[in-house]
Amino acid sequence: MTQNLTKHVLGLSGGKDSAALAVYMRQHHPEIEIDYFFTDTGKELPEVYEFLNRLEGFLGKPIISLNPDRDFDFWLKQYKSFLPSAQTRWCTRQLKLRPFEHWIQKFLDEGMEAISYVAIRADEQYREGYSSNKDKLKISLPFMEAGIDKIGVMELLDSSGLGLPKYYNWRSRSGCTFCFFQQKIEWVRLMEHHPQAFEEAKAYEKTAVESGSPFTWSQGESLEDLAKPERIAQIKANHEARVARQKANAQSNPLRPDDEPIDIDTLYGQSKICLTCHK
Ligand code: SF4
Repeated sequence: MTQNLTKHVLGLSGGKDSAALAVYMRQHHPEIEIDYFFTDTGKELPEVYEFLNRLEGFLGKPIISLNPDRDFDFWLKQYKSFLPSAQTRWCTRQLKLRPFEHWIQKFLDEGMEAISYVAIRADEQYREGYSSNKDKLKISLPFMEAGIDKIGVMELLDSSGLGLPKYYNWRSRSGCTFCFFQQKIEWVRLMEHHPQAFEEAKAYEKTAVESGSPFTWSQGESLEDLAKPERIAQIKANHEARVARQKANAQSNPLRPDDEPIDIDTLYGQSKICLTCHK
């Protein structure tokens, strides 16, 4: 199989793992000509674009932006204003996977094979996400093969000078501003850091509930309720207690500074994450 008959692609979510994988492939496999792509839902954090711009500088080549042919509002109407949810995740299918499948299909139709590099780390179990159902599209997991875990990812980002995405100060996941996988503390912080995005999410939710949607963005309460001062204080207190417990339980690691932010997935468990959007 010669290289020019094989398309090598690597999807960037705006998150740390896929960015670290791009760094790793550039450093360890410069001979492979990779197309880096980002599937833009149009509802991303500004910090994501800033991070991808910096990554472009490191890679020395443009990141291809794949835009869905129809935007979030179009699909929301198709789904009768029902918000996407962990149970009905139409957003990932329509806004992330579909544009990728259309794009890659062109190359497969031209007779090429494709390899998609995915940033599952060695310390993770394989999680639900994009898996190929096409013979000519293969999935490669270089971090698994090389035994690169979360600390390895942080080292790749540090040593390349790229660092973490800036939203890491307050939220540890990439993806849409209103992603329903967010923890309650992340909603509070979205409200503080991007009040307009929070208001937009609130407006979508209001329409959804009025249209009979069984889902609110955050489980068990509306954003309007979540944004009440007493509720915010409670969410922050719960979060701080969780951080304190985690710190007390953590074995000290001389390689990492004590003030390194503990990411949300470590604190709340990794089940609430999407491989396509949050890598
Ligand atoms: S980031 Fe969240 S809301 Fe956006 S497409 Fe992915 S799962 Fe859906």
